[in-house]
Amino acid sequence: MSLHVSVSSDIAVLVDRDGTLNYDSGYVTSPEQLVLFPGVPEAIARLNQLGALVILITNQSAIGRGFMTVETLAEIHEAMAALLRPCGARIDGIFFCPHHPQDGCDCRKPNVGLIQQAAEHFSLDLKRCFLVGDKRSDLEAAQKSGVPGVLVKTSSYSEDALKARDKGQLSIAHVAATFVESVSWIESEMTRGLHVPPSP
Ligand SMILES: [Zn+2]
Repeated sequence: MSLHVSVSSDIAVLVDRDGTLNYDSGYVTSPEQLVLFPGVPEAIARLNQLGALVILITNQSAIGRGFMTVETLAEIHEAMAALLRPCGARIDGIFFCPHHPQDGCDCRKPNVGLIQQAAEHFSLDLKRCFLVGDKRSDLEAAQKSGVPGVLVKTSSYSEDALKARDKGQLSIAHVAATFVESVSWIESEMTRGLHVPPSP
């Protein structure tokens, strides 16, 4: 009997970046500015080991505002991968919105374009996925996509999402203090029913 527990490959944890995985210091426009919260690489590694895809879903309007190029964003994400690698952690996909908020695109969260792109690319079963984010816009995009949303309280933006929930304007599946805690909750949700009971 194998004790290895894994979820099917059409399940993903969709993860916001700034304020969720790393400190949100305004715009991150260089690799040095991306500083991960404690325990993030290990938590991502746990999701990797579980067999869930880990997919970044991130608004990067710094590109549309002219603060950063797409090439620099790629360098930032290479630096992030280098921070994750020593812990055996990896990001499986990155979907970003480069547009200015006034461009009226359909991919900037709270719009659902990025989640749809990820779902198409990886053939995701969205209702069995999770999205983790610190902002109301993350949770709104999740809700519109039928993905259970987890709010993390690692930035000041989470207050706005909690207020919207309390007014009945936003549905949140779970509130976690940090990304690490959100992963513990997601792990228990995902592995529910997957465990084989021990032989008598
Ligand atoms: Zn966009």
